Amino acid sequence: MTKELICINCPMGCALTAEVENGKVISVTGNTCKRGEIYAQNELTAPVRVVTTTAMAQNGKPVPVKTKDTIPKEKIFEVVAAIKGVTVPLPVKMGDTILKNAADTGVDIIAARSMG
Ligand code: SF4
Repeated sequence: MTKELICINCPMGCALTAEVENGKVISVTGNTCKRGEIYAQNELTAPVRVVTTTAMAQNGKPVPVKTKDTIPKEKIFEVVAAIKGVTVPLPVKMGDTILKNAADTGVDIIAARSMG
């Protein structure tokens, strides 16, 4: 089976073509560098994402937040739901942890901007 995807690791956005057999990536073409091949391997077998969203601060305003590391793509909904349950105490500094081990991913949620 042939899969087409775009590498998102740098602004070049190489168009990749991967051959997949029995759930395994057997070849990748179209990548300009090795990172594209690794991206295709990961994306087609265990896709992950950094999630950016907002959480509510105690003053009722949204604070930009993000996952400190990548999380499995299938956990995005649960992680966003967990973030919605958090009220961020102020003041908060960029990089402060606002939620530990979000949705049991082992990944913390941190503030992406200072506020308050
Ligand atoms: S394959 Fe390499 S050059 Fe192409 S988008 Fe990915 S990281 Fe950038």
